[in-house]
Amino acid sequence: MTKTLFKNGLVIDGNGGQPLNDAVVVTEDNRIVYVGPETGYTQTGNETVVDAKGGTILPGFIDAHVHMMMEFSPVSERLATPFSFMYYQAEKYLERTLHAGITSVRDALGTDLGVKKAVEDGLISGPRLQLSINALTITGGHGDGYTVSGNTLDLLPSGYPGMPSGKCDGVEEVRKKTREMLRAGAEVIKVHATGGVLSATDHPEFTQFSLEELKVMVEEARFRKGVKVMAHAQGAEGIKNAVKAGIHSIEHGIFIDDEAIELMLENGTYLVPTLLAPVAVLETAKETGMPDTAVEKTKEVIEQHQTSIAKAYKAGVKIAMGTDAGVMKHGTNLRELGLMADIGMTPMETIVASTKTAAECLGWENQVGTLEAGKLADIVIVKGNPLEDIYSLADNNTIQVVMKDGKVEL
Ligand SMILES: [Zn+2]
Repeated sequence: MTKTLFKNGLVIDGNGGQPLNDAVVVTEDNRIVYVGPETGYTQTGNETVVDAKGGTILPGFIDAHVHMMMEFSPVSERLATPFSFMYYQAEKYLERTLHAGITSVRDALGTDLGVKKAVEDGLISGPRLQLSINALTITGGHGDGYTVSGNTLDLLPSGYPGMPSGKCDGVEEVRKKTREMLRAGAEVIKVHATGGVLSATDHPEFTQFSLEELKVMVEEARFRKGVKVMAHAQGAEGIKNAVKAGIHSIEHGIFIDDEAIELMLENGTYLVPTLLAPVAVLETAKETGMPDTAVEKTKEVIEQHQTSIAKAYKAGVKIAMGTDAGVMKHGTNLRELGLMADIGMTPMETIVASTKTAAECLGWENQVGTLEAGKLADIVIVKGNPLEDIYSLADNNTIQVVMKDGKVEL
């Protein structure tokens, strides 16, 4: 039995209450066994002591929307990259993400079961993964890489073992495709319920899949031990269809209107803002060879996106942190907290969205998301106090220690 004692730091437990001074966190093997006043814990002398040096002790952060198998790059580069190279790149992305303080992620398409197994078996280091395998998408929709030249240029390859293509049209094809994703190891079903910014032949406001098709995904997922559905949904009609169908989380939510907000509140639907995605698209357009159409669409919607998220937040919609990492560089995830603060959330609320609420969005709240006895030992120490400077988390040098599942990874 290995015990670790985290001391000499401000403790923010993820529940949103007052941070604790003079508190310690104790882990035994891969579990947290004590969180509370230092005076309430009697040392056995066998603990490994981790000194937070006056910094802050937090739960491991959770990113509810990442793509671990990609980082956007120019078309010419993608065409010249051998297929299997993406696995070796992913190894670096996973490690970078973990070192940035992210101990759990929900992968929103592109990562197969072998990658998850490699992390679980300790072959490579990375955050705990919840996989969607591939996203369901309509012909001509957000996930269809067809271009008007007649060539198909998907962002990520599919149709190889463990990674079915997600294209399907009509209720019965949708049913079969959902079952294929589940068979391949999907723990959450991802759907593109509207067009998007990066897709060549559509627009964020286009509605994709009918209400009936979306309902079939929810039904098929529910048959399998309560698997949930997450929807890339940007236009108002697509967002409302997704919520009405019983989908668990709305990703991006650019054109959320009042009716959509009402529906989300009624249904307890989560919102995963990904505010960093459009910011990063504009910042890195040149370097990543972002197509002009994507840059134009991003400029068109970026302000609307921020307005919608602010409105949903003020109305009380549950917000789970997610970035769309892969569209931007992996390891820059915690910039999202600063952007959430910019639309009006308090620093503490951005931390809760990135820990407790994100864990609930993944359905993992009994295991991770807060510092509480009995939960998995996912713990991060950062320099300084993020409540005083939430933007400091964006700097990877702020992250001092990362423990995942009881193992110190940084
Ligand atoms: Zn995404």
